[in-house]
Amino acid sequence: MSAEPGRSAEPGTSAEPGSGPHVLILGGTTEARRLAEALAQDSSYRVTTSLAGRVSAPVLPPGETRIGGFGGPAGLAGWLLAHGVTHVVDATHPFAERMSFNAAEAAALSGVPLLALRRPGWTPGPGDSWTFADSLAQAAELLPGLGGRAFLTTGRMGLHTFAHLTDTWFLVRSVDPPDGQVPPRLEVLLARGPFTLEDERALLARHRIDVLVTKDSGGSATAPKLTAAREAGIPVLVVRRPAVPQGVPEAATPSAVLRWLGGPARH
Ligand code: NAP
Repeated sequence: MSAEPGRSAEPGTSAEPGSGPHVLILGGTTEARRLAEALAQDSSYRVTTSLAGRVSAPVLPPGETRIGGFGGPAGLAGWLLAHGVTHVVDATHPFAERMSFNAAEAAALSGVPLLALRRPGWTPGPGDSWTFADSLAQAAELLPGLGGRAFLTTGRMGLHTFAHLTDTWFLVRSVDPPDGQVPPRLEVLLARGPFTLEDERALLARHRIDVLVTKDSGGSATAPKLTAAREAGIPVLVVRRPAVPQGVPEAATPSAVLRWLGGPARH
């Protein structure tokens, strides 16, 4: 990528004089929804949230929504220009690797400013026993050495990576049912966060879980499982985040995005 995305126009400016800002939120996270809710308070903003369409019944945010891919970076750049988008916020999940790079490239192509809303990752505290893996494949290699009854919370998409582990019993929690290849010994729990500490404690005990596998998703909605694992003395296998594109300004919270945009109370 040659140009620095998000630096080619001043945040807070509109595409056409007299028209309000049009913010495109690349969504799929709690933070994306919170941002859309905050922007919906200010009628001078036009807000569109884009979802990939992976979840069969997504919780839709206020404002306009569109579902499905754009057809790569060029498709996204074309969409931004065709719809008069003045700001793009990449609020995709930290493990939505492809889309963050697409957004950076589309911003460079179109000149529309881009900000990445990235919640901080989790860090181990006293009493935690965490092992890090660089990928799901590495997690699958390390898992048999850590436990035999795994609570797998890495999502339904990468389940095939664990399919060869015939000796491990899995409790898989996902929003939609898994498809494709899955490990032979598994129980599926369909659920959507947030989850409470009390429920996570009960779940670990009920299924006699002895290892937790998670992505380093960050945020509070799914963090209680980490506390429950610490309390129960259960090791946690944490998949590290993938790389992010260089040169994209970042914000850690929806409030910081509002400041970047000029804030709902700027008039
Ligand atoms: P990905 O690998 O980064 O993206 C694959 C393709 O899906 C992209 O090239 C794009 O298609 C389309 N896409 C992704 N996010 C989109 C969005 N917000 N709006 C429109 N199109 C989008 O993404 P993924 O890992 O499959 O995740 C898909 C979505 O689920 C993301 O929006 C993410 O926020 C959410 N999510 C992901 C995870 C995870 O662990 N990966 C967890 C929770 C939520 P085109 O190239 O055709 O534009």
